[in-house]
Amino acid sequence: MPLLGAHISSAGGLHRAVERASALGCEAMQIFTHNPLQWQGKTPSPAGIDAFRRTLLESGVKKVTAHASYLINLAGDGYVRNHSIDAVIREIELCYQLGIDSLVLHPGSSRGGSRAGALSNLAGALEKIIDRTIDKNVVILLETMAGQGDILGSSIDEFETVFEAMSWNNRLGVCADVCHVFGAGVDVRSEEGYLRFVSSLDRHFGLGRVGCWHLSDNKGALGSNIDRHEHIGQGAIGIIPFSMLVSDERFADTPAILETPKEGVGDAGNLALLRKLRGAERQAADTRRSGGRG
Ligand SMILES: [Zn+2]
Ligand SMILES: [Zn+2]
Repeated sequence: MPLLGAHISSAGGLHRAVERASALGCEAMQIFTHNPLQWQGKTPSPAGIDAFRRTLLESGVKKVTAHASYLINLAGDGYVRNHSIDAVIREIELCYQLGIDSLVLHPGSSRGGSRAGALSNLAGALEKIIDRTIDKNVVILLETMAGQGDILGSSIDEFETVFEAMSWNNRLGVCADVCHVFGAGVDVRSEEGYLRFVSSLDRHFGLGRVGCWHLSDNKGALGSNIDRHEHIGQGAIGIIPFSMLVSDERFADTPAILETPKEGVGDAGNLALLRKLRGAERQAADTRRSGGRG
């Protein structure tokens, strides 16, 4: 089963994020290693890195993923692209020092140019990054996006194009964001819809490439390209895909990270709901397996 967790603030030091995640009972967590609206954060001291690794070892958090800065655009060209390449390399090096084995990255934007050109910029930039971090085994997870404007990653075909251009390098994967795929037009509201979506992931690049899930409902409608995160079960998606995912054995040990609003029921409330759904779905599956006797 997926490892349930949330995106956690690292205010006050990266090890504080682990403490917060532990207090919530998270099995996995996602962090920004620095302010995501800045190109470069303060590099943590060796003592800070040590504190993070030690706190993590002593916690119940089994997997951590980092989310890269929002400013990065590997699909662009010129200055922004070069700056983005350097920024991703710095993030990978820091992940490596922290013992984090995956980095979630937005695929970027074509900024009015051709999408095919932008995808080829992205593949070329990723190639450079992987070459220059060849001894750092951190997997780059491209996140599925809701399809606003020129943003890449709203269709699974685009991921396949990039992977293909990079000869299916094993340091590439996908972060499947439920809120975003729904905004992009994938109807995951029913059991069949969820199963159809997972089959399409499998067909395009194999489920082993799905290194992370992002969980939140969407305030926007199906196919609206809107990306407005809502508490689980309180938006236009409803609880069905989340209840299917939390007990889906095909994603054993894959982080399933809440990106729901922090106000209202908050992470604690959403996690409690996911755990309840996991229990209920398991019971239902057991009943199905035993042919309805029990
Ligand atoms: Zn993201
Ligand atoms: Zn996300």
